[in-house]
Amino acid sequence: MNIEIMTLFPDMVMNGINTSITGRAIKNGLISVNATNIRDFSLSKHGQVDDYPYGGGAGMVMMPEPIDRCYHDIIKRLGYDKDGYKNGKRIRCIYMSPQGRTFNQGIAKELSEEEDIIILCGHYEGVDQRILDMIVTDEISIGDYVLTGGELAAMVITDAVSRLVPGVLNNDDSAVYESFHSGLLEYPQYTRPAEYKGVKVPDVILSGDHKKVLEWRHEESLKNTRLKRPDLLESREGEDNAWEGSIKY
Ligand code: SAM
Repeated sequence: MNIEIMTLFPDMVMNGINTSITGRAIKNGLISVNATNIRDFSLSKHGQVDDYPYGGGAGMVMMPEPIDRCYHDIIKRLGYDKDGYKNGKRIRCIYMSPQGRTFNQGIAKELSEEEDIIILCGHYEGVDQRILDMIVTDEISIGDYVLTGGELAAMVITDAVSRLVPGVLNNDDSAVYESFHSGLLEYPQYTRPAEYKGVKVPDVILSGDHKKVLEWRHEESLKNTRLKRPDLLESREGEDNAWEGSIKY
């Protein structure tokens, strides 16, 4: 999978993504992440990328032309035509925006199945609407608050999407059992020592009885979800046994 990020701060994005699990996945060639500096596509002598908003108001707005040129450079390199199509399929170009649909595990899964995606990071007051209308296929928010730029949001998307690409996690199963995968939050996890400061790991975890462990984990998942995110339970009515089929030893 190939993730292309259009940004004014490529170092900020790459320094974060090149670390830990995503960094290892890049090194091992399981994913490729490129951050391209939109400023490199400015036609002005001073690398101007923003200007005052028409109609007045605070702040600056990112100009359409550098983004347009940056986008076309990327899609050409990836073998798409000038309208963003390859083999009849349009490349997903995601604009990070507080106005978009809120990112979740379902969207991460959907994006992880794409061959290429482009992420556009806005800055300042945002981006000229005309270029958004021309190139953007999805508008995604990472929550109901306003960031100074789309870079942190792009890193969130890149991280959540990459770890769903087969092989990125050491054990593919670990993504399957996690929070949200089956519409439930995960059960509590324990590691050694079996007793810490007088607090013991629940007996069932040490019992060696896999069936009992799975049942306990499912019960704990339900308990956790009921306590922390009851809204998730409402949307998964009738799926109470869905976990059974998906769990294997
Ligand atoms: N004026 C814009 C508005 O009210 O919708 C907000 C602009 S914000 C200061 C600058 C940039 O940060 C946006 O273009 C977007 O790329 C990014 N951004 C801010 N909040 C975000 C969020 N919650 N999710 C994703 N991106 C966000």
